[in-house]
Amino acid sequence: MKRPTPKRTPGRNRSRSSAAVAQPGRQPARPDRPRTPPADPATVRATRQTTAYLKKLFGEVGFLIDARRGQNFLVDLNLLDLLERSAAIEPDDIVLEVGSGTAALTERLSRAAFRVVTVEIDPRLATLANDRLIDCGNVELVAEDVLAGKHQLAPAVLTALDAAEAARQTAGRSGRFLLVANLPYCVATPVISNLLMVRPFAAATVTVQREMAERMIAPPSTRAYNALSVWVGAQCRGEIVRVLPPTAFWPRPKIDSAIVRLDLEPERREAIPDLTQFHEFVRDIFCHRRKLLRGLLIRLAGGKQKPEAITRVDKLYQRFGFDRSIRAEEIAPDTFVALQREFAGGE
Ligand code: SAM
Repeated sequence: MKRPTPKRTPGRNRSRSSAAVAQPGRQPARPDRPRTPPADPATVRATRQTTAYLKKLFGEVGFLIDARRGQNFLVDLNLLDLLERSAAIEPDDIVLEVGSGTAALTERLSRAAFRVVTVEIDPRLATLANDRLIDCGNVELVAEDVLAGKHQLAPAVLTALDAAEAARQTAGRSGRFLLVANLPYCVATPVISNLLMVRPFAAATVTVQREMAERMIAPPSTRAYNALSVWVGAQCRGEIVRVLPPTAFWPRPKIDSAIVRLDLEPERREAIPDLTQFHEFVRDIFCHRRKLLRGLLIRLAGGKQKPEAITRVDKLYQRFGFDRSIRAEEIAPDTFVALQREFAGGE
C-alpha cells in the first residue's frame, strides 16, 4: 500500500500554536492524530533546507543558534538524500530521530516510515519543527532532552516509542526500529550507547563527528579503538558511508563529520549474558587501556594480595591463550564478550 504523503500547504501561518508539542514529562500530545490522506506527489514539495532558507527563517523569528547544543544544520541537500537513502527505511519501520532542528530530515522520514518519533531539546526549534510538521500525522515530536541522565534515555522518548509500537501492532503491521538522525555531537555517544542497552535499533544511520564514527567501527590495535568500539562492535556491524566536510553544515563545524551505518547482529547481542555487567566490565578495563590486561583483571578479581585472584586470572589466560603482555586494546569485541562471560562465571 502506498504510504500517505504529508501535504504542504503554501503560505501556512508560521506563528501557529505549538500546543501539540509533547511537553517534558507528559504523554506525547498527539499519539492518535489521523493520518493525512495522500497528497498529489506533483504538488508536494519538500522544504529545501539551504543556508539561505535557514538564515531567512531564523531572521524572521529572531532565533540565535546555540553552538553548545550542536546546532549545525545539514544544508547539503545531496548529503541529506544520501543519509535518507543509506537508512533504507521501509513503510512499516518506526524511526527515532534525535535533534529535529527545523524538521528538514523529519519530513522525509515521515514520508518513508510508519511512525517517526523526533526529539528536540530547544523549545524554539521544537515550535518551528512542529509548525512544519503540522500535516505529518505520523510524527510525534517530544520537546525535551533525549537524555534523562548520562546513562538514561528520557522516559517520554521511550513512552513515545512504545505508543508507536502499539499503533503498529494495532494496524496489524510489523517492521523494524531504526535510528536515523543528524545527531547533536554533544549527546551522540550516550544516545547510541543507551539505545544499545535498552532499546536496540535494527539499524542506525547517523551523522556524527568523524572521530566518533571511526571509534565506533575501529578494529583492535588501532589508535581509535576504545570502550565504545567494543560496546558497539560486540553487537553491530558498522561502516562509514561518507565523510562529510564542514561545508555540508551551517554553521560550519570545525571538524569533519561522517555518515555511519550500524546494523545490529541480534545473535551476537544475545551472546552477551548481561549487558549491564558487560558494559561496566569494558568501561572498567578501558579506563586504563594502555595497562596490561592481566593486572586489570587481577584488580577486578580482588587484588594481587589475594592469591585466588591471581590463580583465577592465570587460568583464564591459559584458556584464552593470552600472552602475559596483552593489553585491552588488542582484544576483539567477541573475545571481550567471551572473556567477561568466563570472568563473571568464575565468581
Ligand atoms: N535534524 C536537523 C538537521 O539535520 O539539520 C538538526 C540537527 S542539529 C546537528 C542537532 C539538533 O539536536 C539541534 O536542533 C539541537 O537543538 C538538538 N539537540 C541538541 N541536544 C539535544 C538533546 N540533548 N536532546 C534533544 N535534542 C538535542
